Amino acid sequence: MAKDNLKIDEKTLAELKKALLEKREKLTSELAAFAEKSKDIKGNFKAKFAQIGARPDENALEVSQYEVDLGLEHKLETDLADVNEALEKTEKGVYGICENCPKSRLIDIKRLRAFPEAKTCLKCSPR
Ligand SMILES: [Zn+2]
Repeated sequence: MAKDNLKIDEKTLAELKKALLEKREKLTSELAAFAEKSKDIKGNFKAKFAQIGARPDENALEVSQYEVDLGLEHKLETDLADVNEALEKTEKGVYGICENCPKSRLIDIKRLRAFPEAKTCLKCSPR
């Protein structure tokens, strides 16, 4: 079993998986607050255009609000995609392995606890 060093123990894995599921829940409800699920693309959201009023200044406000929402929506959506990807990896048994290291290595558990959807180790992408 050469790959034993690339496995997270079951207890820690269960804990991280729970954190990922909670994060997915949180991101989904945050997105649902101002965006609607796209019917065309699975897992994609679309920011709703706020209806503030009909006056030009109100219209301008709607546009700037929409731009803010789009930026936030994009960020939440990216985070959600990362969380989903990490959850898929837990199913495949490859969760926690750095995607960037030429020689596969496990991402530091402390990093995963703080940032469970991390794809790379701290050496590869210091944050
Ligand atoms: Zn790495």
